Amino acid sequence: MELLRPSKADEAAAALGNGSVALAGGTEVVPLLREGLLHADTLVQLTDAVPRGVDGTRIGAGTTLAELEVDPQIPQALREACSLAASPQLRAMGTLGGNLLQATRCWYWRLGFDCWLHGGERCFAKDGAHREHAIFGNDRCASAHPSDVAAALLALGATVRTTQRELPIAELYRLPSDDNRETTTLARDELILELDVPTPDASTYLKAMDRRKWAFPLVGVAAASRGGEIRIALAGVAPTPWLLDGPAALDAATPLPGTAYKVEIARALVRRATEGVDPTGG
Ligand SMILES: Cc1cc2nc3c(=O)[nH]c(=O)nc-3n(C[C@H](O)[C@H](O)[C@H](O)COP(=O)(O)OP(=O)(O)OC[C@H]3O[C@@H](n4cnc5c(N)ncnc54)[C@H](O)[C@@H]3O)c2cc1C
Ligand code: SF4
Repeated sequence: MELLRPSKADEAAAALGNGSVALAGGTEVVPLLREGLLHADTLVQLTDAVPRGVDGTRIGAGTTLAELEVDPQIPQALREACSLAASPQLRAMGTLGGNLLQATRCWYWRLGFDCWLHGGERCFAKDGAHREHAIFGNDRCASAHPSDVAAALLALGATVRTTQRELPIAELYRLPSDDNRETTTLARDELILELDVPTPDASTYLKAMDRRKWAFPLVGVAAASRGGEIRIALAGVAPTPWLLDGPAALDAATPLPGTAYKVEIARALVRRATEGVDPTGG
């Protein structure tokens, strides 16, 4: 396998596609290559090509989660989401861009089952083990998006700048459909360069997990208030990060038999998170 290390973003983007895969911290790419779930003739190392660091509201996609969790310029919800993700070692390597693009943790998918998301006919999780799976958007694939960080950025109303465009973070994600089973809208030769994260009046991130450390979100709830409005976004509840149109929107959840408990956890965390950022103190 060849390793390229371009120094410019446009060179890195031009090298992608046709068997070339972007490599940031490698905490996701390397396990996927090892398991045969990702194939690459060439790895394009992004270290010198993608911005790293925080400058006011702008965050380079190459910034590690460990750098973000201690940076005072970063809104609290994002710092908390980073500090509750993975382990210290993984946060020291894992970057913001890589975190947003991590693949599902659904074990059927990770074990290489020919499931619907892999292009097959059925979702094995729906009939099988699905305690960690989705309560929204689970019509075709019931996977639960694992990124704490993406939910925080969604509540904060972040904008993503890529080598091709600028878009609200909500538009980086899509529910997979029969004719397109991708869960992001990023093109094969498109790189995330940086995010712009508006400063909220207040924000928080709460996470329910099986262990108190080093566990993916069963349910993660981010809330951010700005100018009297509160935005809420969830992790671990749908195949993509999920924007919640207020606490009552949980009534529209479509849980599987084994994920009904997540609705109750989400209700409790949404209540606590919104109380925590409510400017009226309510
Ligand atoms: C055991 C374990 C536990 C974890 N727990 C959590 C958790 O609780 N919460 C959580 O949120 N995350 C968790 N993670 C995910 C972890 O945070 C990510 O693996 C990490 O942030 C990915 O960053 P990376 O730089 O290593 O990405 P890489 O592995 O280098 O890349 C990941 C993907 O993103 C692409 N990519 C990377 N950067 C860019 C870019 N700038 N533009 C375009 N494409 C890019 C790569 O091509 C690849 O497809 C966990 C991971 C592991 C292995
Ligand atoms: S939840 Fe999605 S990834 Fe998991 S088995 Fe079903 S289709 Fe595959």
